[in-house]
Amino acid sequence: MLSYWEKSTLIHHDLIVIGSGIVGLSAALHYQLAHPKKKVAVIERGLFPSGASTKNAGFVCFGSISELAENARTDSQDELLSLVEKRYKGGLELRQLLGDSRINYRPVGGYELDFDGDLHERVEAYNDWLKPLFNEPVFCDARDKIPSFGFSQAKIKGLVKNQFEGSIDTGKMMDAFARKAREAGVQFYTQTEVLHYQEQTHGVEVTVATTDGPLRLFTYQLALCTNAFTKALLPEADLEPGRGLVLITKPLTWAPPQGTFHYHSGYNYFRNAGNRILLGGARHLDLKGETTTKEGINTLLKEQLTEDLKSFIAPSRPLEIDYAWSGIMAFGKEKAPLLLHPSIHVHAAVRLGGMGVALGTGLGKELAQRLGATTS
Ligand SMILES: Cc1cc2nc3c(=O)[nH]c(=O)nc-3n(C[C@H](O)[C@H](O)[C@H](O)COP(=O)(O)OP(=O)(O)OC[C@H]3O[C@@H](n4cnc5c(N)ncnc54)[C@H](O)[C@@H]3O)c2cc1C
Repeated sequence: MLSYWEKSTLIHHDLIVIGSGIVGLSAALHYQLAHPKKKVAVIERGLFPSGASTKNAGFVCFGSISELAENARTDSQDELLSLVEKRYKGGLELRQLLGDSRINYRPVGGYELDFDGDLHERVEAYNDWLKPLFNEPVFCDARDKIPSFGFSQAKIKGLVKNQFEGSIDTGKMMDAFARKAREAGVQFYTQTEVLHYQEQTHGVEVTVATTDGPLRLFTYQLALCTNAFTKALLPEADLEPGRGLVLITKPLTWAPPQGTFHYHSGYNYFRNAGNRILLGGARHLDLKGETTTKEGINTLLKEQLTEDLKSFIAPSRPLEIDYAWSGIMAFGKEKAPLLLHPSIHVHAAVRLGGMGVALGTGLGKELAQRLGATTS
């Protein structure tokens, strides 16, 4: 039962953003900064964001050589170059917006592990292709670092470095983002699921689940930043969910390698997180099983990642897996994210793939600009 005060002031908004992941926070923040007098709310079904943004590995990256080669099977060279530009500039934008020290950005460089020993032969061609964007070589042969990183020299035959990659602390990044949005005036409703919405003549009616039953809110504009979960609200969205697994070791008694590391065309990755190793991926081993919006630990993937850790990442080093978690991403046939405008007052920015840390801030900003262009 709503009071007069609730009805007159609290249920009406200028903009409601569904989803408090990177894209939702960036959209809400940028819109609020551009329109300080507007009433902006972010609605999130979890206590924390419950998709990918607080579950990821914290790589600020734009693609290893073999991952870009794999992407080139579905995307043209021009599309791919434009995507690399968006990923790279998106990473810079995130760092500029929140500040390197607040998100613990570390310019450690990214490395691709090579099992065949011929990856370095492709360095020059990729540097030439990326020259218009970076104006200097992106990749270099780093085979000399294999012994000091402690990798198995019998299994790892090559290593290529990307000097423009780095890592962040994902938790600190999301905390800094939410604080900045709150400071700008954005209202947050967490543990509140949006059940459905209905476009109306002068805005959108948004029905949320509350402990007292469904409640209707009203907004002039609605932004869906629901990534993998979008189909529940917008069935025509062209995307599939993809679960990602992450394992973390117990604190190590030895110094883990410093950097962001990839192998198997970007499907697998690891880095240090303080004095632990965080590693994840291997989704390609069970793509069907991992096409789900449900959190969970796939034992096959967990066993393979643990085996990788012991056999070539840190062979004959004492280590133990502490725990694992999963997060849910969204993928499409093409790698570019989707910016949709399904009805007059409704927009969506979704399908971030596995590089939303890099892409999310820019995409949210672009969405805020679109919303601003049609503001009442
Ligand atoms: C294991 C893993 C590792 C990754 N590693 C990296 C990496 O190292 N680098 C990188 O660039 N990217 C990485 N990613 C990808 C990156 O995290 C995502 O692309 C990015 O976080 C997507 O952000 P988003 O805001 O679009 O979606 P999300 O973070 O998923 O946010 C969507 C939000 O919408 C909420 N929501 C959905 N439906 C509703 C509803 N009906 N009502 C209310 N709320 C709702 C969800 O709870 C969720 O919080 C990784 C992802 C995973 C899972």
